[in-house]
Amino acid sequence: MVANIPDDLLKTIRSCSSLPSAPAVVLQILDLVQDPEISIPKLGRVIARDPALVAKILKVANSAWCGVRHEIATLDQAINLLGLNGIMSLALSFSLVQKLRNIKEKAFDYQAYWRRSVIAASATLAVGSSLKESSRDELFLAGLLQDIGMLVIGGAVPDYGRLIDSANNEHERIVELERQELGTDHAQIGSWFLAQWGLPNILVEAVHASHNMEASTIFLAKSAAIGSRIADIWINPDTDSATASASEAFTSYLGLSPEKLDPILVKTAEDIPEITQNLDIAIDDAASIARLLDQARQALADLHLRTIQEARFLSIQVQRDTLTSLYNRAYLNDALENLFLSSQTLSQPLTVIFLDIDRFKEINDTYGHQGGDAVLVSVSRAIQSATRSGDTVTRFGGDEFIVLLDNTEESLGGKIAERIRASIAKAPHSIGDGKVINVTVSVGWTTMTPDSNISSAQELLDIADASLYAAKASGRNKISQAS
Ligand code: GH3
Ligand code: MG
Repeated sequence: MVANIPDDLLKTIRSCSSLPSAPAVVLQILDLVQDPEISIPKLGRVIARDPALVAKILKVANSAWCGVRHEIATLDQAINLLGLNGIMSLALSFSLVQKLRNIKEKAFDYQAYWRRSVIAASATLAVGSSLKESSRDELFLAGLLQDIGMLVIGGAVPDYGRLIDSANNEHERIVELERQELGTDHAQIGSWFLAQWGLPNILVEAVHASHNMEASTIFLAKSAAIGSRIADIWINPDTDSATASASEAFTSYLGLSPEKLDPILVKTAEDIPEITQNLDIAIDDAASIARLLDQARQALADLHLRTIQEARFLSIQVQRDTLTSLYNRAYLNDALENLFLSSQTLSQPLTVIFLDIDRFKEINDTYGHQGGDAVLVSVSRAIQSATRSGDTVTRFGGDEFIVLLDNTEESLGGKIAERIRASIAKAPHSIGDGKVINVTVSVGWTTMTPDSNISSAQELLDIADASLYAAKASGRNKISQAS
């Protein structure tokens, strides 16, 4: 993985005096964590040199976030509880925030930056933990540090503030403008920067990929990128569109359905007060966090409903014939297969009626294709009127229709076949322009009973088709039962 940063910009960044250096204690911890001989007392001795950090670690270890009931009184106990990575993540985030939050660059609103980063960290943690992938500390750090490149650019590029302003505080827009104006983005710069600090490779890679999801398979990077969008729910003034964007990222990066995002939003909101307090970041009051959560959950529910409705509409579209709105041939094939099997399993009769309009080519020739179409629609309505609502009425293709009558024995099947024929012969059929004509159909039908020796749905269909042929041969406008 190589960060893609133009040489000039890299030179400026390197010579920039306000470029943050890693806090000393963090560097020592990073060294120690890579030491195969690492021990808790050794780590304890390093941390003990920074009393503010010790206090912070003890506070976090005793907080509800860690879920421990008895009091953690010593640093060693806390290190045991939080683990090496946990300590590293805490030391890093605490020292970093402490060190960097007070830089006064007029180009950059650091408070806003850290507010967003900290919410992104809790959201990234919530996303990753819900799927039980990656360690909590890696998730937290990847979420927290993914945009650190913005601080680096802020220190090196004088009019970066203008770029951020013109992006209207929309994070994705900031990335676009960075690419246009700087030839790189803050994910590239951030990963380069963290690599200089000697942070673990997995974090460097996750930050690198956090704004280039198409190319990334790294779970940590995906969680961080989703966490970043979730953060916007509490940052971006347009909560609904931030929620839609978070939901879109969640479904497309992880392939999960949007309703699975709901508990993640709840967990994020729950953790925001504690995490921001641990890192001394000023944040909105609890009531507005809860209000924005409610609004996002409502927006998510609306989105989910719309997705379901669209999917239903699409599946109806693929199952229906566009001209007559009857079920189409693909639907018939599935329905026949299912009914064939269930009728055999339940030992129930199944009647299949196959019908075809008589001399339809002549209708087309005489009244034009549109007249023919009108007849197809009219015949369809007549078949529907002559059958029950639970029967499966389909346009098989051209001027052929098939009706499936579930659990319908021979005597009733014959009556319905005849009712369809007679009602079509009797009804006037519109051909448009207020004109009507007479139309007849030929009908072949058959009933499969538990005693029939029919081995497949296709065979059943072929039998009904052969009867239709017999009805045509016997003079049309007739019904014919398979013998
Ligand atoms: P038969 O009594 O033997 O069935 O004679 P027929 O003229 O009806 O013959 P056939 O069933 O083979 O003709 C079907 C015709 O239906 C052929 C085709 O041009 C026409 N057709 C197929 N699909 C459509 C359609 O969507 N709209 C219209 N208007 N005509 C169609
Ligand atoms: Mg025909």
